[in-house]
Amino acid sequence: DSFGHDAGDALLKQVADRILGQVRDSDIVSRLGGDEFTLLISPVENDIALASIAENLIDTLSRPFQLDDVEVSIGCSVGVVSYPRDGENLDQLMRHADAAMYHAKALGRGCYAFFDVDLDQRNHRLMQIKHGLRHALSRNEMSLVYQPEIHLETREIFGYEVLMRWHSEELGPISPSEFIPVAEESDIIADLTSWMMLQACRDLLPLLNDKMQIGVNISPRQFGGDRWLTLIRQCIDQEGLRPSQLCVEITEGALIRDMEQAVVQLSELRKLGIRVAIDDFGTGYSSLSYLKRLPIDFLKIDRTFVADIETDQDDQAIICAIINMAQSLGIGLIAEGVETQEQLKFLKSQGCDIAQGYFFARPMSVDQIKC
Ligand code: C2E
Ligand code: CA
Ligand code: CA
Ligand code: CA
Repeated sequence: DSFGHDAGDALLKQVADRILGQVRDSDIVSRLGGDEFTLLISPVENDIALASIAENLIDTLSRPFQLDDVEVSIGCSVGVVSYPRDGENLDQLMRHADAAMYHAKALGRGCYAFFDVDLDQRNHRLMQIKHGLRHALSRNEMSLVYQPEIHLETREIFGYEVLMRWHSEELGPISPSEFIPVAEESDIIADLTSWMMLQACRDLLPLLNDKMQIGVNISPRQFGGDRWLTLIRQCIDQEGLRPSQLCVEITEGALIRDMEQAVVQLSELRKLGIRVAIDDFGTGYSSLSYLKRLPIDFLKIDRTFVADIETDQDDQAIICAIINMAQSLGIGLIAEGVETQEQLKFLKSQGCDIAQGYFFARPMSVDQIKC
């Protein structure tokens, strides 16, 4: 864009020339619009031959271009389809080539990808979910369930984790593991989070004492900014939430992706008196040095480590290491996914404070909690 329209066209012409240099006379190169080209090639022996054509194309196009005095380099992604395997008409082939190209893009710069049916089905499902999410709140398709966190020493309820449920009229029930990542790609997550936090306050605050906490799952991309602060204020001023009653859970993976940002924003939360927990702990690249830098109150031990506690010595060792580390840093521990008495015994003997899981209770609606 910084070169203006003419330069852009000049560049695309050079791109086209290089593509033409790679193909045979019988092949057809066309510009599809924007910066997208279609290459229609006469039959080749097999997929290996197709792949090597894609590789050569990427190679050629990744060499720098000369635009007046400036050297320009571009990235290129290739989606590959084969007729008749991947489509019976041009329309279908083009759509599938597009899907493969987007997949290649997601793999990184300078990649190619073949189309496959799974890819198409996956894309189709993602589009349906994305579309469905837009109306989910206004159609009352969302609901919340709450899972108690139990204090192992006293067996009292320490708090509840809020978990979102979506029952779509068209698609049926959809797991948050499937729809949350889609919502996170757009602004939809902000609407869902606002609704979730306000609804959870209304449902739970009448049932909690001052010491109990409400755990909410938040993706770090969301916090920070005016809207997030307004939401927290609203929960405190209008719904009567005490800051210390709120525990914000952030996954370890998300934290590591943007450590600097996370440190700033977690500190802000801490200043307000809000608690912070690292979710799915142990699945990322946990290290002592980063735990020391982060202002956190709890680690939630990922349930995959808890699952095999009785049989897997490695998992036992990992859990013991996490517990020791947390204790020496003065951080509280919550074990996730406790399903059996034996798991519970082990965790308690190692000094874990709090646990959550089907052994105690499944996530419940607010009406179920009241009974
Ligand atoms: P998470 O934060 O790790 O939540 C714990 C998950 O483990 C929940 O799955 C819960 O139902 C499940 N679980 C609890 N106890 C047990 C057990 O004993 N055994 C087993 N096998 N599973 C147990 P769920 O409700 O399907 O949620 C999946 C994920 O979706 C959550 O993982 C969380 O990352 C995300 N999520 C859920 N609600 C929200 C939300 O409101 N906002 C955001 N951003 N993410 C959410
Ligand atoms: Ca493009
Ligand atoms: Ca969580
Ligand atoms: Ca978790």
